[in-house]
Amino acid sequence: GSTVGILGAGQLGRMLAVAAARLGLRARLYAPEADPPAGHVAPVDRGGWGDAAALAAFAAQVDVVTLEFENVPVATLEILAPLVPVRPGPRALAMAQDRVAEKTFLSEAGAPTVAFRPVDDAASLERAITELGLPAILKTRRLGYDGKGQARIAAPGDAAPALAAMNGAPAVLEAMAPFAREISVVVARGLDGATAAYDPAENVHEAGILRRSAVPAGIYDETRARAQAIAAQIVAALDYVGVMGVEFFHMPDGALLVNEVAPRVHNTGHWTMEACAVDQFSQHVRAVCGWPLGDPLRHCDAAMENLIGDEAADWARLSAEPGAALHLYGKAEARPGRKMGHVTRTSRMA
Ligand code: ATP
Ligand code: MG
Ligand code: MG
Repeated sequence: GSTVGILGAGQLGRMLAVAAARLGLRARLYAPEADPPAGHVAPVDRGGWGDAAALAAFAAQVDVVTLEFENVPVATLEILAPLVPVRPGPRALAMAQDRVAEKTFLSEAGAPTVAFRPVDDAASLERAITELGLPAILKTRRLGYDGKGQARIAAPGDAAPALAAMNGAPAVLEAMAPFAREISVVVARGLDGATAAYDPAENVHEAGILRRSAVPAGIYDETRARAQAIAAQIVAALDYVGVMGVEFFHMPDGALLVNEVAPRVHNTGHWTMEACAVDQFSQHVRAVCGWPLGDPLRHCDAAMENLIGDEAADWARLSAEPGAALHLYGKAEARPGRKMGHVTRTSRMA
C-alpha cells in the first residue's frame, strides 16, 4: 500500500512515520489524544478507540493498518479488519495484552516462561505464594508498562499491600527470576512467512523502566542463536506480520525464559537505527506493506540510553558529543518517568 495507517501516535508512531517516508510511502496516524508526538511528522486523525465512524473514515484513507501501542483495544482491530488489512492482527494483540494468556501461549509455543499463577483475591494470592514460593512479583494482567502495576513480594507480610496495589484488577503472580542478564530480540515476520531477527540486545532496567540497551550482549553465539530461534518460533506460531519485541531472562544455568512480548517495534531495538542498514522501523513498514524483509545484519557495536524525565534537558551537551546520535521525541512536558528521547553511541565491532 502507499499509505500506512498507524494506531497510536507516540514516539514509536513518529519513528515509524519517518521510516515510511524514507521508503516513499505516506503515514497517517489515529489516536485519541491532542498534539501527540507523531503529529509533528504526519497527519493524525483524532478519535476514540471505540468510535466506529471515525475508524471507518481512517480506514478509507489508508492501505494497511498497523499499531505502535499494544493497548489498542482488540475491538478496535475487529472494527477495522473487515475494512482494511490489519497487521499484526487481533489474535497477537489479544495474547500480548493479558499476561496470563501471553505466558500460556508462550509455553504452548515452546517458549518457556517463569512459573506463574492467576490471582484474583487474597485466597488465590495465598495459594499462589505457597505454590511458587518467595520472592515473587505480582503484576496486573493488563495495561502495565514501564514497570507500572507491579509489586514485589519478598516476605509474606508484603502480600496484602501488593494485592492492594492492584486496585482490584485481575493479576498474576510470577516467580522472581534470579537472572544473570536480560536480553531481547527484535524479530520481523513478512507477509510471505520469512523471518529476520536482529542481534539480541542486553538490557538494563531501573525502577521497571528501560535504562540502556547494548549490542553485542554478553552472551555466547549459541545463546544468541537460541534466542533468535525462539523469537522466530513465536512469530511463526502466531502467523504474525510485522516486528515484535521478545524480552528474555537469561538464567545462570543458560536457560532462556521469555518475560514478555510486545507486538510492535520495541525500545530495545532503537539501536538498529544507527547500526543496521534496515532499522526496526523500516523493517516493520516493509513487513506490513508486504515488501521483502531487509537484512537485519549489524555493522557496528551500539549502546542506546533512554532520556527519561528531565534528562533530556541535557540535550545541548548530548548534541555536541562526537559520535552520539541524539533523538528527541518532541514532547513538551518532561514528567518523571516519561521517555523524552534517547541517545545511541556506536563503535567499531569488537
Ligand atoms: P515494558 O512493557 O515497559 O517492558 P512492563 O511494565 O510490561 O515493562 P515487565 O517487562 O514485566 O514490565 O517488567 C519490567 C522489569 O522488571 C523487567 O524487565 C525485569 O527487569 C523486572 N522483572 C519483571 N518480572 C520479573 C520476574 N518475574 N523476575 C525478575 N525480574 C522481573
Ligand atoms: Mg510490557
Ligand atoms: Mg518488559
